[in-house]
Amino acid sequence: MMKGLLIVISAPSGTGKTTLVNMLMRSFPQIEFSISCTTRKPRPGEVDGKDYYFISLEEFEKKIEKNELLEWAEVYGNFYGTPKDKVLKALNEGKDVLLDIDTQGALQVKKNYPEAVLIFILPPSLKELERRLRSRGTEDEETIEKRLLIARRELSLATRYDYIIINDRLQEAFEKLKSIVTAERWKTQRVKEHFSELINDREMLQLLNT
Ligand code: ADP
Ligand code: 5GP
Repeated sequence: MMKGLLIVISAPSGTGKTTLVNMLMRSFPQIEFSISCTTRKPRPGEVDGKDYYFISLEEFEKKIEKNELLEWAEVYGNFYGTPKDKVLKALNEGKDVLLDIDTQGALQVKKNYPEAVLIFILPPSLKELERRLRSRGTEDEETIEKRLLIARRELSLATRYDYIIINDRLQEAFEKLKSIVTAERWKTQRVKEHFSELINDREMLQLLNT
């Protein structure tokens, strides 16, 4: 069976990552979204086990000790991590998995799992990023300032990603995101190991394997 794709998406807060990820999940329902663990408190409307696994700092530390996380990082003063077993199991079952994680986590994933596809979403400008963050209306002034500061640090890591998408017009950005996922699925390196499952024609199969 063809192994699933590990897709990692990061963006400075307010860029439109959640919007784009939701569109992608609707368009490709077979992609599994990896639910992270976090020590952050749930926001109104967030559901434990759906948005995140909301756990205590002690529980989080235990997971690190037991090597149960594929990656983890401190983001905006809280800890976040990706449960390793679930992700590896899904990939081995041929399911594509999407991680919505920060830059520190994404680079850890690439180091430990080089086949991962890293996509960075950029806002068209810092001014527009600020406008989007404010217009979302979910953060107070202090949090907005903090996020804008961290955005600058995150932007300096964007060129380490495999792909960059500028989220100017939403629909265009979404088309690019879909194209990347589709193209990555059909890379020769991935496909060639599975010719026998994909191709029925014996002669063609022989020719491809010579
Ligand atoms: P993130 O997950 O990156 O923090 P969100 O998806 O919550 O960002 O988007 C932040 C705000 O920007 C939301 O109000 C969203 O509707 C808006 N937004 C997202 N993409 C665009 C876009 N291309 N143009 C204008 N506004 C956008
Ligand atoms: P929020 O608290 O707004 O949901 O997320 C804050 C930031 O934490 C976002 O940039 C999000 O991508 C990142 N994040 C969420 N889950 C994880 C995770 O498991 N690992 C890492 N490294 N970052 C995460």
